[in-house]
Amino acid sequence: CGIVGYIGHRDAYPILIKGLKRLEYRGYDSAGIALFDGSDIQLSKTKGKVSDLEERANAEISKNGSLGIGHTRWATHGVPNDINSHPHYSSSGDLVIIHNGIIENYDSIKKELINRGYTFKSDTDTEVLVNLIEDVKKNEGVKLGKAVQIALNQVIGAYAIAVFDKSKPDEIVVARLGSPLAIGIGEDEFFIASDATPFIEYTNKTIYLEDEEMAIVRIGKKVKIRKIHDDSLVDPYIQELQL
Ligand code: GLU
Repeated sequence: CGIVGYIGHRDAYPILIKGLKRLEYRGYDSAGIALFDGSDIQLSKTKGKVSDLEERANAEISKNGSLGIGHTRWATHGVPNDINSHPHYSSSGDLVIIHNGIIENYDSIKKELINRGYTFKSDTDTEVLVNLIEDVKKNEGVKLGKAVQIALNQVIGAYAIAVFDKSKPDEIVVARLGSPLAIGIGEDEFFIASDATPFIEYTNKTIYLEDEEMAIVRIGKKVKIRKIHDDSLVDPYIQELQL
């Protein structure tokens, strides 16, 4: 299983597909991507290989957008099928998430959300998390980053996540606990991946998130890292990888 992401000035699609192929060694049963061009989100996902995803994306989406996220899934909650593949939308369609790991207390959270009118398309724990983030965002009137942090404080489990918000076309929020996550820093562009192999050809500047850290990755800004649980700010440590 693996995650990739891109935000910058290039077409995200080829970077994401190539990145997912580099992460294939991690093992997976399904693959998917979401692209955002600033107004529309396009999503394509399928059970099977990254090459199956390419075939499907060629047929069903126009592949525009310089913000995108991609995922290879190793199913833990919900059988491997197209619907359970990531990315997952929130109920409103405004948020999109990819997730490696497990949300252990998803069942009780899901019941509460269903009581409050949320609907679910998949059987995954991940779709519960994205709706919890949406619920927090609405109820507390906070921005995406804060909503992710509050939601993750209610979650028991392990994760590497990347999530974006239709109302924030210049930002991806990522977080890590128990699953790896690296951020590549380029010129006015950022890369996200489970390890540096998907982006090493574009930049050697990397931040490896530590467990219990989250980061707001925003065009034109320095990466802002916080501890998820105690809210303290962390000075980003940028490593220069040897090429
Ligand atoms: N628990 C999530 C699911 O089953 C993510 C699995 C993964 O790590 O790929 O969909």
